[in-house]
This record gives sequence, C-alpha cells and structure tokens, in this order.
Amino acid sequence: MEILSAEFVISNTKVDKCPQGNLPEYAFIGRSNVGKSSLINMLTKRPKLAMTSSTPGKTLLINHFLVNNEWYLVDLPGYGFALRGKKQVDKIQKIIEDYILGREQMTNLFVLIDCRLEPQKIDLEFMEWLGENGVPFAIIFTKADKLSGGKAKDNVNKYLKKLSEQWEELPPYFLSSSEKKLGRKEILDYIESINR
Ligand code: GDP
Repeated sequence: MEILSAEFVISNTKVDKCPQGNLPEYAFIGRSNVGKSSLINMLTKRPKLAMTSSTPGKTLLINHFLVNNEWYLVDLPGYGFALRGKKQVDKIQKIIEDYILGREQMTNLFVLIDCRLEPQKIDLEFMEWLGENGVPFAIIFTKADKLSGGKAKDNVNKYLKKLSEQWEELPPYFLSSSEKKLGRKEILDYIESINR
C-alpha cells in the first residue's frame, strides 16, 4: 500500500468522541518509549505526524489519523508507567479498555514490543487479556537496528517460543526499525490485506 495522505484528525479521551462513520481502524499500543510514535511516523512517511515521547501530555490521549481517506491509524496511550500514580494508571487503563473493547471499527490492534527485551509480565498479561476478549491483534517487534546481525531475529524467536507456551496459535508478527525503515512494507501490506 502506498500512503498518499495522512492527516491528524482528533485527540480525545473518550470513545464516544472518536470520529463517526465506519472506516476501519488500525490501532497501535505499547509501553511508553517502545518506539510507537517513531513507527507511526515511519509508516506514514510523515516525520512529525505522531509526537514522540518528549511531548508532555500526549500519552493520555487516543489520537486518530486519517490515512488515504480510507482508514484511521489510531495511536493509543502507552501502558505500564512505573513512575505514574495509581489514579493516572487507572485512568489510562480505562481509556484503553473502553477503546479496545468498545470500538467496533477497530479492525486490528498492533502491540509493540522492544525486540531487545526478554518477555515482560506486563506485555504477556496484556496479550492474554486481548486473547480472552477475542481482540484481533498482531505484534510488532521494534528497534531491530539496535541489535546486530541475526540477534534481533533470535530474540524474536525466543519471545515467540515463550508465547507458544501460552498460546495454541501465535499472532501475526513483524520486525521493524524506524531508524532503518524496516518492516514498513510488510506492516502496510498486512493492513491492506485485512482492509479488503
Ligand atoms: P513512544 O513513547 O513509544 O512513542 O516512543 P518514541 O517513538 O518516542 O521513541 C522512544 C525513543 O526510542 C526515542 O529516543 C526514539 O528516537 C527511539 N527509537 C524509536 N524507534 C527506534 C528505532 O527503530 N531504532 C532506534 N535506534 N531508536 C528508536
């Protein structure tokens, strides 16, 4: 898929304020700093479309971007902030849950995982929760350029092995690097394949 246009539409904290209509939505989620904004900018080839971590306040919002006038790319708040208070964590969790469980237009959720990390409890539990609720999702392993040689792939395989202890069937997965523009075609082709 070629990206002909990508524009910011709206930021909000409530599912019922999200854009009306029935265009399909592809949402992106992950722990803070996983490289979500960089990935969105890389996919859309718009270097400043999603604001990176250094922008305060943006982490609490559901951000809708209209792509090719055909689908929405949705940037969800990051989860798992060790430094935030319980009240704020609960608030973010509620926004995420309401969107994921309540938004009929959501066609697929991309869960971002830093490819350098060992499987983390918070991500595994989150994916388990998605499975229990029948939410369609795929995994994107980010920052592949940070590991040299075949090490990124080795790490991903280790991760998948761990997942297969928990799951009968593995979700689709992609390896990406925003730095090296890796994984762009595969992710966009995947979106196109389910957008038909
Ligand atoms: P977010 O909080 O998930 O939106 O993460 P950001 O996109 O703001 O990225 C967090 C940090 O990781 C920033 O310093 C980015 O420059 C860096 N980063 C993100 N993606 C990549 C990548 O693919 N490769 C490398 N080397 N660094 C990355």
